[in-house]
Amino acid sequence: MLEKLSEVLKKATNRIANAIFLDKNLVDSIIRDLQRALIEADVNIVLVKDLSDKIRKSAFDERIKEIEKKEHMIKLLHDELLNILGEYKPLKIQKSQNRIMLLGLYGCGKTTTANKIANYYAKRGNKVALVGLDVHRPAANEQLKQLAEKNKLNYFIDFEEKNAVKLWKKLEQQKKLKDYNLIIIDTAGRHNLDKGLVKEIKEIGDEIKPTESILVMPADIGQAAKKQAQEFKDVVNISGVIITRMDSTAKGGGALTSCAELIKLENKKKVGVYFIGTGEKVNDIEEFNPEAFLSRLLGMGDLKTLIEKIKSITDEKQQEKMQKKLEEGKLSLEDVIEQVKSMNSLGGFDKIKSMIPGFSEIGKGKIPENLMENQEQRISKWEHIIKSMTSEEKENPELLEKEHSRISRIARGTGVNNSDIRALLKQYKMLNEMVKSQTQFDPEKPISQKQMMKLAKKFMKKGKLKF
Ligand code: GDP
Ligand code: MG
Repeated sequence: MLEKLSEVLKKATNRIANAIFLDKNLVDSIIRDLQRALIEADVNIVLVKDLSDKIRKSAFDERIKEIEKKEHMIKLLHDELLNILGEYKPLKIQKSQNRIMLLGLYGCGKTTTANKIANYYAKRGNKVALVGLDVHRPAANEQLKQLAEKNKLNYFIDFEEKNAVKLWKKLEQQKKLKDYNLIIIDTAGRHNLDKGLVKEIKEIGDEIKPTESILVMPADIGQAAKKQAQEFKDVVNISGVIITRMDSTAKGGGALTSCAELIKLENKKKVGVYFIGTGEKVNDIEEFNPEAFLSRLLGMGDLKTLIEKIKSITDEKQQEKMQKKLEEGKLSLEDVIEQVKSMNSLGGFDKIKSMIPGFSEIGKGKIPENLMENQEQRISKWEHIIKSMTSEEKENPELLEKEHSRISRIARGTGVNNSDIRALLKQYKMLNEMVKSQTQFDPEKPISQKQMMKLAKKFMKKGKLKF
């Protein structure tokens, strides 16, 4: 169900969480991913634009502290998505007899859904009966009968009676329904909402006086759900919506959000998305709770868990660690690797460029395309090199420069060239130089984006910074 959207959302939240800096290029690229995924899920373009604008605005809101920005962005993404998914409006079971009438076009899933919710409420202690008022097609009665028997549900159908209103009256007269607190009524559909269908559902509605008239729509109609619901609402008093086939389309986002839009428009009438159908089997139905639904899309328990996750990997820790190193005034060889690795793990050179403010500009034209691939090989070589070093050498890499025999020894042991080891040493020296110049800034304060940019520029100019 909406796997693709879910995948992109998870990726986006991870990218925000893992970012070192929320630089403009990164934010833009995350927003682009989001937009594409939401539009693919058939979410209205106006909603998508609105959501992107809000996220972008918060990312560059100078009033929000740098360190809180990621948390803020994730929360915003969560809240805005929740907002477009709509409010939680569960179907309420009344004390008196509940008459739930299902309406919808042909093939939208009425009969299947009637069974699913009959089973759902029977399992929750209700006395449930199914009534088949799709009187025109004998196959419809047969389908309801088979499903009801399979699931051991009480049902009332009549293969003779061809008038739905008469059939209902008959059931009432014979007091067949009085012992049930929940009656689920399956009705006939048409290919479209024509006069015949409107007349029929109005007549049935007048007779039954349903406590709920629920419009059933398949998720694959996407955004068109809004128009269809609107059209039905214009002729009958729809109290809620059930969206079926969420499992078999990528457009479910459109169906859900467009219903939420409608709900907002018709606020006072309290039309809610009650359930979503997620498969053909009787248990493939779930109450639609936007909060829980979104949590699953984002792949987390709830917002609190996610925020905690972000906090655990957010700048704060990294900066604290870095701060300590700065105070000690020295980075180790392992730090060098960590530094380069964390750059790599962010994926792709373009992204790395976007992480470091000013980089995308100053680096133009100077960086070979295959740099990242070489980089990975380089890292793995460096890791081998460090493993072959004695602890004395690790503590004090300058030893290698003083005694070249050490370099040759390591090169032989690890099968790398002397030049690979020298490259590592060079990177090590460069980073420490960077750290030293860093300490000219106030060591009490974390490194700001501006300072980082200054440094990056300085070192790029000198040709010292190599990523
Ligand atoms: P009706 O004409 O409105 O009564 O529609 P049906 O209940 O007969 O359903 C039409 C088709 O949609 C059937 O093949 C159902 O099995 C299928 N269907 C209904 N709900 C779902 C659902 O949530 N997921 C999937 N995959 N199929 C569904
Ligand atoms: Mg049917």
